[in-house]
Amino acid sequence: MIIQLKNNINIQDKNLIINKLEDKKYTASEVKTQKGNYLVAIGKKDIDIRQIGCLQGVADIHKVSDSYKLVSREWKTKRTEIDLGDGVKISENDFSIMAGPCSIESEEQIISTVNHLKKNNIKIMRGGVFKPRSSPYSFRGLGIDGLKIFSKHCKNAGIKIITEVMQVSQIEDMIDYVDIFQVGARNSQNFNLLDELGKTNKPVMIKRGLAGTIDELLYSAEYIFSAGNEQIILCERGIRSYEKAYRNTLDINAIPILKEKTHLPVVVDPSHAIGIREFIEPLTLAIIMAGADGVIFENHQEPEIAFSDGQQSLNYNESEKLYKNIRKTIEFKQSL
Ligand code: PEP
Ligand code: MN
Repeated sequence: MIIQLKNNINIQDKNLIINKLEDKKYTASEVKTQKGNYLVAIGKKDIDIRQIGCLQGVADIHKVSDSYKLVSREWKTKRTEIDLGDGVKISENDFSIMAGPCSIESEEQIISTVNHLKKNNIKIMRGGVFKPRSSPYSFRGLGIDGLKIFSKHCKNAGIKIITEVMQVSQIEDMIDYVDIFQVGARNSQNFNLLDELGKTNKPVMIKRGLAGTIDELLYSAEYIFSAGNEQIILCERGIRSYEKAYRNTLDINAIPILKEKTHLPVVVDPSHAIGIREFIEPLTLAIIMAGADGVIFENHQEPEIAFSDGQQSLNYNESEKLYKNIRKTIEFKQSL
């Protein structure tokens, strides 16, 4: 169960609640986030929650039967909204578009992408500076110096940044330059990284693991929340299957399932799913209809010469067509 504590609860009242839970053979973990103060109590016996709910200092109490707790929709029916500042939000009411190259390659490329996004009123730019690559000989990113230039141009243009953090030691260097930390598929269950991101005050978008289940993704999100950070976005990016005709299998089923299981926003990355540029548009329109809260896709000034993932990156003409069709599809969906 989740016990939401009053913000001004005193230590004696808190200990009284914990003792009472222990009497009932429950273990309580305290979770303090930017927004609230909770006790997550785990136990086997079914107890009458009114016995806890009536104690001093309890603001609210909920039974949660899911084994992940804080990210479960069983206790929080209101959906989480991620506020990036300056009116940029990721929420159910406002389909978010995040676009940009797979890798940040040069200052010229950043300027070109920022101009393209600005022209099309896109508020969030993606781009990796620390790149997880299958081969150590592939381009591995411009690192923190690249991020600083990326940040400078985006700040000037009022565009927010999402970029991948690969390890704990990068967090401190990156934190002032990012608006959303991306946890890549390969790090989806890097629990040390999730714990440390939970201690930051920046939103985190966590991708589903290469062969991760929906429950595993939710447990990973629970790590971040229980370490103190409620600002979490989930990302379906395709899972590895036996099929070889495309890069990964986009699990459209995951969208309604996740939205039923969790209050967190759900974003989809069609680029790393299908991995084929020509099919990014139909997949994006499909995920809107399936209930996604946003899309993140790869976009490049000249995909043919991209340092990474050019085969799945849209050029500017293609992405402009996509933005228009996204907007039309949202209108169509709203008219149903
Ligand atoms: C990326 O977004 O560039 C990336 C490496 O994605 P994933 O972690 O989903 O493979
Ligand atoms: Mn990529």
